[in-house]
Amino acid sequence: MTLENKTAVVTGGSRGIGRAICVKLASLGANVVTCYANSSTAADETVKLCEEFGVKAVAVKADVSVKEEAEALFEEAKKLTGTVDILVNNAGITKDNIVIRMSDDEFNQVIDTNLRGTFYCMRAASKLMMRKKYGRIVNISSIVGVNGNAGQINYAASKAGIIGMTKSLAKELGSRNITCNAVAPGFIQTDMTDVLPDSVKESLAKTISLGRLGNPEDIANATAFLVSDDASYITGQVLVVDGGMS
Ligand code: NAP
Repeated sequence: MTLENKTAVVTGGSRGIGRAICVKLASLGANVVTCYANSSTAADETVKLCEEFGVKAVAVKADVSVKEEAEALFEEAKKLTGTVDILVNNAGITKDNIVIRMSDDEFNQVIDTNLRGTFYCMRAASKLMMRKKYGRIVNISSIVGVNGNAGQINYAASKAGIIGMTKSLAKELGSRNITCNAVAPGFIQTDMTDVLPDSVKESLAKTISLGRLGNPEDIANATAFLVSDDASYITGQVLVVDGGMS
């Protein structure tokens, strides 16, 4: 599997799953453009880790829920290598609450970052990819978008919406040699899940066939496969990577 001479835009690459995806794609030879919301030092570290593989890499501060900032990412990619071959929509947040206590802000912020941000990036990438008749898009959804989860109706809506957009874009752009798939992670050890008490993590681990929580590299490996030419006949799919949890 090689991604040499390819350029990837990966949103939310400063930490967790996004960083692991950046590093994995770089290890396969892809140049990487990533973004972050606040963590500039961590994002610089991701860039360094990518550059160790001899590729070009850059991290920019860009809030994907703001159209102009999401679109600027693709301008950065054009500056870096002149093109975009791969888009991984990874940036995401949670604002959990039970439905009767969920505020408008909690609902809107999650939809704006996870769903609207993914749309802005998909639209900007599609314009470039259609011209070159090549593209690989992977959207990071969640098992919560497939099965639902109490206390996460905002997050579930955003992640289920991502699956709908993925399947629709796959139909829209298939004839242009552009694939679009989703990865639905289960329970992955990152800052996002570190907030849960150990007792909750332990009981969750018991529901996982493989007996362990996932790590960011598990998701990065699946994503790398879907953006590679080995997956050139796979589109519109949701790849669940949850250790058998569902
Ligand atoms: P994380 O550790 O919290 O990292 C989130 C990343 O997204 C960070 O790089 C963050 O930047 C960036 N980000 C957040 N809001 C942003 C915005 N508005 N614009 C640009 N970047 C933004 O999360 P994670 O666990 O790695 O999750 C990554 C993706 O996988 C998310 O879409 C999440 O929903 C999904 N997922 C995670 C799990 C899990 O168990 N961890 C399971 C299923 C799905 P800063 O560092 O600057 O804040």
